[in-house]
Amino acid sequence: MICNPHIQPTIAMVATWPTGIVHPDQQEFLFDIGVEEILAVNYGDGDIVLGFNMLVQAYLMQPQRWPFVIFTENDVHPIKDKMGEFFEADADVICARYPTAGREDAWLWPDSFHSGFFWTRREVVRSLRPPWWRWQYNERGTAHIGCLCTIFKDRLEAEGFTFANAGQARHEPKPQPARRVLRIRRAQ
Ligand SMILES: [Zn+2]
Repeated sequence: MICNPHIQPTIAMVATWPTGIVHPDQQEFLFDIGVEEILAVNYGDGDIVLGFNMLVQAYLMQPQRWPFVIFTENDVHPIKDKMGEFFEADADVICARYPTAGREDAWLWPDSFHSGFFWTRREVVRSLRPPWWRWQYNERGTAHIGCLCTIFKDRLEAEGFTFANAGQARHEPKPQPARRVLRIRRAQ
């Protein structure tokens, strides 16, 4: 299916941690393409997996008048004149491409998927049992495997749903605290 919020009643669910704000440019883009309503969800503690699960849960609690949905984060901003392809792509889940720091292979395939800005419909997310998002960890639980989007995509593909990426967005990632170990010794 093709994304066309002008004829498909579409709500946008925006994850707004930590500012709680949906940028005016982002609002303008969403309303311009035909979105009728934006729900800003501030998930509070910086856990993006929890944040996306909250977004889906909040969406499924909305009235049935929104059979179509765009999920996005407030730091992913579609570039207006580079989004044409997005509205021509034909799939059950369509995401915009955006820079993903340190992951050159992020957009290797035409169906590569990342959750920063994507469109889908109610029955697609409804087909999965929650949690929709989960981290995968290495054997010792000291590092994530891949990104949070992998399980969501794999499970939906197993249900027969299709993915496409198209169009381009900017990404202004939130500062992430560095992972490190500090040794602190008592003074001699
Ligand atoms: Zn991802």
